[in-house]
Amino acid sequence: KNIIEIENLEKSYENGHIKALNGIDLKIKEGEFVSIIGPSGSGKSTLLNMLGALDIADNGSIKVADYDLSKNKKLDEFRSKKIGFIFQLHNLIPNISVLENIEIPMFETKLSGKERNNRAIELLDIVGLKDKSKKKPTKLSGGERQRVAIARALANDPSIILADEPTGSLDSRTSKKILEQLNKLHKEKNVTLIIVTHDMNVAKLADRVIEVLDGKIIESSDNSLLNDNI
Ligand code: ADP
Ligand code: ADP
Repeated sequence: KNIIEIENLEKSYENGHIKALNGIDLKIKEGEFVSIIGPSGSGKSTLLNMLGALDIADNGSIKVADYDLSKNKKLDEFRSKKIGFIFQLHNLIPNISVLENIEIPMFETKLSGKERNNRAIELLDIVGLKDKSKKKPTKLSGGERQRVAIARALANDPSIILADEPTGSLDSRTSKKILEQLNKLHKEKNVTLIIVTHDMNVAKLADRVIEVLDGKIIESSDNSLLNDNI
């Protein structure tokens, strides 16, 4: 089953002078791990933003997890129920604790305070940071902060995780750990994982690598058989 179906998606900026997406067609299966590569300015972030309904397309259709995002309806509900975002600059709130940061997306749900707290602790345990729950993000290392961002992205049990350069500012050992964690979620919970990256070592872990150039998909390569045999 496809969790994502995009047809002829177009997006311009600056009154049409910059064509960020120039006719994207893309289908992604539930539980698939896809990486998106391509040079700077090719449209990767724009595509990711469309998938998470952070931005709206000019033309074409985009359906994600049974929501028709081109209809521009229920987008808040879609984002909080279906999507977990991880950005390079993890956007954690600096002056509240790690635990409270993870609770934030759960305010969109019906969970009680106690349930939010328990869930946040459980998520911190998954990313191996239970002992740091009371710390402020500023007291953590880059890798630890990124793990907090992963925990926060998982808060509402999303069907899809969208990650923009999730290991961009991390050393290679830490980024390996972060990727292992993401890969584990993808494998164990059947989460659909979409990662934008400049790093071929990251990209090749995916089932499929999609290459974007000038707002178009120019190549899509299937690695799933390859990786299953490792
Ligand atoms: P990346 O690291 O993927 O290359 P960018 O640095 O290009 O990402 O973009 C980061 C954010 O800034 C994105 O959300 C994008 O929409 C926005 N952005 C990129 N280029 C411009 C621009 N020329 N004017 C305004 N916003 C931009
Ligand atoms: P990538 O992520 O591959 O670096 P982006 O999707 O950030 O590429 O950008 C694609 C093109 O759209 C670039 O030319 C960028 O400058 C432009 N762009 C992206 N976001 C904005 C924005 N908010 N305003 C104006 N131009 C933008």
